[in-house]
Amino acid sequence: MDAQIMEAATAYEIKPRQAVALETRRVAKTYPSDLGLIRAVDDVSFEVRQGEFVALVGPSGSGKTTMLAMLAALLSPSSGQLLLDGMDLAQMSDIERVRLRREKIGFTFQANNLVPYLTALENVELMLRLNGRLDKAGRVRSQELLARLGLGERMANLPSQLSGGQQQRVAIARALIHNPSLVLADEPTASLDTERAYQVVETFANLIHENNRAGIMVTHDLRMVTYTDRVLQMRDGKLVKQYVTREEIEGLAGGRLEH
Ligand code: ADP
Ligand code: MG
Repeated sequence: MDAQIMEAATAYEIKPRQAVALETRRVAKTYPSDLGLIRAVDDVSFEVRQGEFVALVGPSGSGKTTMLAMLAALLSPSSGQLLLDGMDLAQMSDIERVRLRREKIGFTFQANNLVPYLTALENVELMLRLNGRLDKAGRVRSQELLARLGLGERMANLPSQLSGGQQQRVAIARALIHNPSLVLADEPTASLDTERAYQVVETFANLIHENNRAGIMVTHDLRMVTYTDRVLQMRDGKLVKQYVTREEIEGLAGGRLEH
């Protein structure tokens, strides 16, 4: 194991007694199919604390994206509760949910959904603009964040002028710029080479730790879990295992997925 990675990993021990930012209680999502109901997410309960960066892993079809979409308030659960900063997403009106999503949640999904006619910088600033918080300081922060993600020279480019990996990093900056309580990322390193993927996930982890946010990252690349504080493993819609200690997490990052 690379010494630099080891050193970074040991710095990430969970700080005790942080407040719970997110809690799911027996959350389920079912879809109708020809063979009856599919339980895409099946009674999943967990907590994420402020300042904690959690990885969500599992085979394709295990329910990771469905879980993330519910956490992002984009999809309603069929049953169960989702509490963000103590508020139940299911009890909110549509208007409250839209507002919560805009102010308290940052997300980047596999299709990064950048606005094609806005530059990289404008795409990031958009989250501040939508919340009525785009001032000079916000603009400087947007530039600094893009620079930190290695895009200092690319801020004036449109998404079509950027590589897939660069677009993904713009999407990550956009997910973080408004300092949301909860940051969600679905496969944020899917189109990055290994070295760049490590850098991006490390920066992502640092930003979550520095700003005391709760972060959840879905990844199929187990090496990336080295930067996280805990790993949740799903299978067939169920949460089947958690990796909590540094040893367990490093074991997983080294390629030992237990079944
Ligand atoms: P993952 O992200 O882990 O690959 P998903 O959450 O995308 O898993 O999917 C979990 C299960 O739910 C799969 O069996 C998938 O086919 C099913 N599923 C996901 N979305 C829908 C949908 N909109 N309608 C019907 N079935 C769905
Ligand atoms: Mg998925």
